[in-house]
Amino acid sequence: GLGVEWAVQWLTLSARLMSEHREELIALDRAIGDSDHGENMDRGFQAVMEKLAQTPPETPGAALKLAAMALMSKVGGAAGPLYGTAYLRAATALGEDADIDAAALAGALTAARDGIVARGKAELGDKTMVDAWSPAVEAADEALVAGGDAVAVLAAAAEAAEVGAVTTDPLVARKGRASYLGERSAGHRDPGAVSSALLLRAAATAAG
Ligand code: ADP
Ligand code: MG
Ligand code: MG
Repeated sequence: GLGVEWAVQWLTLSARLMSEHREELIALDRAIGDSDHGENMDRGFQAVMEKLAQTPPETPGAALKLAAMALMSKVGGAAGPLYGTAYLRAATALGEDADIDAAALAGALTAARDGIVARGKAELGDKTMVDAWSPAVEAADEALVAGGDAVAVLAAAAEAAEVGAVTTDPLVARKGRASYLGERSAGHRDPGAVSSALLLRAAATAAG
């Protein structure tokens, strides 16, 4: 299974990806929002890295809880509370276990997605980060049922999240700032779905 080293590596790669994709996320949010998503996510994950250095976590759950707290206080906007809830629910699902197997991992992904839905009330097809997370959870569950290990579960989730982000292109936004644009939101990719796919890719890369 996966241990705290994986969780720390996941967060570290996440911070790197948010920094590398900062301008891309800003550009996506410029088209259908207020241009701050790249800045918000980069700032949030820099705060996660600072907290990791200050208080090295001892379990994967503790690492994700630390991330949740940093993201809630530093990301702001719509995405801060949504990601904060996601990481907190995932941390709670993992509990204090030092070693995370495929089933625990799939459960944590489900908990994260359910947290986002509980907080934001978006449904699949509303052109939000849920359009990345829901297919990711389904793919993770399928990989689990097929006998996949933790690495396979994360690889499946990351792949499905990337496809899910692309499926937001033609959609009309029904939640968040982009929904103010109505039909004009169609033809643009949702920034939060893209950042979610990047975060899940980081999780898979850290495991592989
Ligand atoms: P803000 O819109 O407040 O500036 P961000 O730009 O950081 O916040 O994040 C925007 C992203 O948040 C969107 O691209 C979308 O994926 C996500 N989002 C917004 N509202 C919701 C919601 N109700 N449920 C799920 N995701 C949402
Ligand atoms: Mg924004
Ligand atoms: Mg904003």
